[in-house]
Amino acid sequence: MIKNQTSKSMKLQSYANGEWYQSTASGLILNNAINGDVVAEISSEGLDFQDMLDYGRNIGGPALRHYTFHQRALMLKELGKYLMDRKEIFYQLSTATGATRTDSWIDIEGGISTLFVFSGKGRREMPNSHVYLDGNQETISRNGSFTAQHIYTPIHGVAVHINAFNFPCWGMLEKLAPTLLAGVPAIVKPASQTAYLTELMVKHIIESNILPEGSLQLISGSTGDLLHHLDFQDAVSFTGSASTGLKLKKIPAIVGNSVRFFMESDSLNCSILGKDVEPGSDEFELFIKELSREMTVKTGQKCTAIRRAIIPSSKVDAVAETMIARLSKMTLGNPQNESVKMGPLASQDQHQDVMLQAGKLAQDNEVLFGKSVELELLDADVNKGAFISPILMCAKNSSTTSAHDIEAFGPISTLIPYHDEEDAIQLAALGKGSLVGSIITNNPEIATRLSMGAAAYHGRLLILNSSCAKESTGHGSPLPHLIHGGPGRAGGSEEMGGIRGVKHYMQRTAIQGSPDMLTAITGSWMQGSQRNTDNLHPFQKKFNELEIGDSIVTGKRDITLEDIEAFAELSGDKFYAHMDEDAAKRNPFFEGRVAHGYFLVSMAAGLFVWPDEGPVLANYGMDNLRFSSPVYPGDSLKVQFTCKQKVNRENEEYGEVRWDTTIINQNDEVVANYDVLTLVAE
Ligand code: NAP
Repeated sequence: MIKNQTSKSMKLQSYANGEWYQSTASGLILNNAINGDVVAEISSEGLDFQDMLDYGRNIGGPALRHYTFHQRALMLKELGKYLMDRKEIFYQLSTATGATRTDSWIDIEGGISTLFVFSGKGRREMPNSHVYLDGNQETISRNGSFTAQHIYTPIHGVAVHINAFNFPCWGMLEKLAPTLLAGVPAIVKPASQTAYLTELMVKHIIESNILPEGSLQLISGSTGDLLHHLDFQDAVSFTGSASTGLKLKKIPAIVGNSVRFFMESDSLNCSILGKDVEPGSDEFELFIKELSREMTVKTGQKCTAIRRAIIPSSKVDAVAETMIARLSKMTLGNPQNESVKMGPLASQDQHQDVMLQAGKLAQDNEVLFGKSVELELLDADVNKGAFISPILMCAKNSSTTSAHDIEAFGPISTLIPYHDEEDAIQLAALGKGSLVGSIITNNPEIATRLSMGAAAYHGRLLILNSSCAKESTGHGSPLPHLIHGGPGRAGGSEEMGGIRGVKHYMQRTAIQGSPDMLTAITGSWMQGSQRNTDNLHPFQKKFNELEIGDSIVTGKRDITLEDIEAFAELSGDKFYAHMDEDAAKRNPFFEGRVAHGYFLVSMAAGLFVWPDEGPVLANYGMDNLRFSSPVYPGDSLKVQFTCKQKVNRENEEYGEVRWDTTIINQNDEVVANYDVLTLVAE
């Protein structure tokens, strides 16, 4: 059992080669952000980093790759549940970082929910196999005997995750979920300042025994020479300051071996107030709420926080006045006091750095709030904790303000006035690439012009008005479904974004060959591959009896004018091309009355369905439906129906079967092609 570690200071451990390791060297002392007490000491001295890489590559990688995407997705779910059951343990230690309950909720439960989202997406959007198909089969030969398909498979190295101090849990989990789902082991290196919380969570992850051996290692302290031993099968996912990121990106082994390097760095995110928004309106209130929340949640230590508020020059006074009134009500102090809304910065080092940057910003911006405020703290001593007031500034010159260059990683924002929309777009771009921007307007034309102007400079854009505000996740919340990352200064990479984030840890390969070869390799039936027809209708086979390529080619059905009219009557679809010979002829695509496409789909089911009760439980949809040639009365159609993909659902008594369905006319022309999706009993 893991002991409660909040009461006394401790020496942090690393987890390497399947064992906990505690350095005997003296290390960096980590202090409680609220009262300065020693929380922990950290050092990784003595770790053999080459060994850690070998262990991940040789033990963790093969162990993870043994499982399918779905099996790994289920591990994430199980892990999420395990950690959620123990969340209060993490909340307890999280207070030492200066976090309020809300701040910790973002870090702890927000991080754990990333595991759940990737688990769900992995099982819904990825196959229950070892190969992920990228796009459709490519036609690259005249007769189809030579074909191609892009696939993704996991890289064979290790993912090194280097995280920033502000989200010790979320930072680890949002990287870990896509990495493990891809089938790649990780070595996690949290920022030293708050590594005690990451270490505690890793201890619980290891204790859970849910992940295969070698999937996860932890470095508490410096990475030593680890990055110098990376090769092209490894990846680095870095979150932190641009200066550290750039330094690491240039390490010779990383450049020389083309190591994948994902960088999420600092970002001078903006929020633009539309010129249509008047003081007192709902949208004005929303803007103020978002700005003050983004300044104060996590004491402004969020990579996505609003650093620049770009506002119409005519509204500067109204915004300033309302913001000052709101910030004046902010309660600061010890987050364990429930009325405290903003805690301290994470450490005294951080405090020094933020004050330094704030001083630089104050040289060319007017300080509207926070300059000479005597800090009134609840249950805390200003001399012991890393406390700071929110600071609101206003640019004296909108285009040259240092707010476009300096990141003060604390509760500090600058109002930047604009004249017109073009001006607003240019000011937004002066951030040189941001993780997120928001546009608060109720006018779709303004929203369109501002987003089209700003999108190329942002990884994510929130367009906020009162109609979505209630359910909006807000400016500052990265979601596992959406990409987190941005161009330029923000690092030029992406994280998460659903399955896109999983692909970062996989290699895309175009495989070429005969359709039969590609069917064998991908486990998915390719056009042109052999069809297996035996006496048993494929609907009579249970999921595990069915094989890829099992098919039927149906008998023929002649299409008559009566069919078309009967279907029109039944469905109510009396579109002229089905009902009026002359009108149909005037249509550029038809020579006369044509059969309804939906009739063809229904008629095809009538040809390929085995009617008796059996293993097929339900039809749950169709994909990729295309009608490629018109069908006229007198045409004679048949269906080729082939088992294309099987996805067995872990822990269920049925699997999903995808059937390639091709309707062909008397001239062997394809008139329709689509995938029928069914659930089939095991
Ligand atoms: P940092 O000082 O750049 O450190 C980031 C990480 O890099 C830490 O784990 C740090 O470890 C490690 N590191 C530093 N030097 C290293 C080296 N030579 N070799 C290997 N690792 C090294 O940033 P921070 O102060 O933790 O975080 C604040 C910054 O992160 C802000 O600029 C913020 O904007 C940015 N951030 C960005 C995002 C995003 O998603 N884009 C999210 C959060 C934060 P040590 O702590 O042990 O030095």
